[in-house]
Amino acid sequence: MFVHAAASQPRNLYIGVKLINMNLPADVSNIINVLESNGHEAYAVGGCVRDCILGKIPNDWDITTSAKPEEVKSLFERTFDTGIEHGTVTVLLSGVGYEVTTYRVDGKYNDGRHPESVTFTASLEEDLKRRDFTINAMAYNDSRGLVDLFGGQQDLDNKVIRAVGNPHSRFEEDALRMLRALRFSAQLGFDIEDTTRQAIRDLAPSLSKISAERIQVELVKLIVSDHPDRMVDVYETGLSRVFFPEFDTMMACDQLNKHHCYTVGMHTVHAMENIRADKVLRLAMLLHDIAKPNCKTVDEKGQNHFKGHPIKGADMAKDFLRRLKFDNDTIDKVQVLVRNHDERPEISQRNVRRMIIRVGQDNFCNLLAVKRADALAQSDYHRAEKMAYIDGLQAMYETILAQGDCLAIKDLKVSGKDLIELGIPQGKKIGEILQILFDEAVENPETNNRDYQLNKVLDMLK
Ligand code: ATP
Ligand code: MG
Repeated sequence: MFVHAAASQPRNLYIGVKLINMNLPADVSNIINVLESNGHEAYAVGGCVRDCILGKIPNDWDITTSAKPEEVKSLFERTFDTGIEHGTVTVLLSGVGYEVTTYRVDGKYNDGRHPESVTFTASLEEDLKRRDFTINAMAYNDSRGLVDLFGGQQDLDNKVIRAVGNPHSRFEEDALRMLRALRFSAQLGFDIEDTTRQAIRDLAPSLSKISAERIQVELVKLIVSDHPDRMVDVYETGLSRVFFPEFDTMMACDQLNKHHCYTVGMHTVHAMENIRADKVLRLAMLLHDIAKPNCKTVDEKGQNHFKGHPIKGADMAKDFLRRLKFDNDTIDKVQVLVRNHDERPEISQRNVRRMIIRVGQDNFCNLLAVKRADALAQSDYHRAEKMAYIDGLQAMYETILAQGDCLAIKDLKVSGKDLIELGIPQGKKIGEILQILFDEAVENPETNNRDYQLNKVLDMLK
């Protein structure tokens, strides 16, 4: 299908006519058709248009329309009010929700985050103008083709993130857009256009007006992207200073030590690059050495040491994650990984069983991944030995699982119920006895045997 730039007031006239397969899903076409045949305009808009031009499958499809929310609601059977005060109605078709938003102009922003008012407009151009970046400000429908008023296609071709209009004004309206610019640059591997980048540097302190929840969303998208190294830009532009000053301290912290060849900050960035794009794992790498600057000492040879940084780091990681309003499950998992990232017990069945129990069976594979990513982001001093040690830990972990060793009280061959049947009253005593049996089974798995354990309990009762 041919689509072309329908530029009414183009910044740069983009004359290229490209073959782009927009391939609107049937339900999206259907919504647009229903709106159009009732006398309204309607387009797919924003991220989905950007992703289609890039040949990616969009996460979701947003629709922008001249129809007012009440009109949208009257035309579809199943709708619900998602953000009706901002003009958004969700239309439900075949179990999927599509956000249909009335063309709008945002009123004045006095607080750097919310428009004072939202006004509906009949003009698609006005609606596109309020959007953050040129690549996010394109609309498409089958009848008009691509509407690209600000050179979005050209910026996609040139791999550039550029604010729509004056970047200073746009970031003064909503300071979150600065972090969004870096998030999109990380997701897409794009550069940030010079005046847009300069505006971010100038206005970075105003990110302090933005809620922790909104910052969290953008930070997570950035670090789980293909380019978590763009954290360096978050630092360089001055944004991290606002919500993550610990990272600035890490970027400024040298590590004079044969194991290292980067600052703590750059080591952190490389460690993120070395681990799979999972929220908990990337956060664990981002935070694993957070306490190094606080724990840094210099020995008589001028070498740095960071004794105690994993334990202190687990506390600091928790403070940071709490501040950004992460959920408890994420905080717990990240903390375990930070606290244990540097644990290196001698590899024996007993030691590794203890380690699995301490870390939790579910977290152990993640801990191995963290250790590998950490080692690979260090200097190559003893690299082969470090990797061989982690391989050994993994092999022992697999052996222990294959043996079905006792790793939790529930794995014991006797239960609380058995103890009650032996005449022990319900209460604290039961837990204490199970703990004794468990400790013994971890030391020596052969003791996890029902006859042996029942006899032992009987002995204890004598
Ligand atoms: P994703 O793939 O992450 O969903 P997206 O481009 O769809 O990317 P959203 O945050 O879902 O991003 O926003 C949808 C669209 O709304 C954007 O493409 C942009 O046009 C507009 N938009 C979102 N947030 C802002 C903002 N803070 N300021 C201006 N426009 C915004
Ligand atoms: Mg989206």
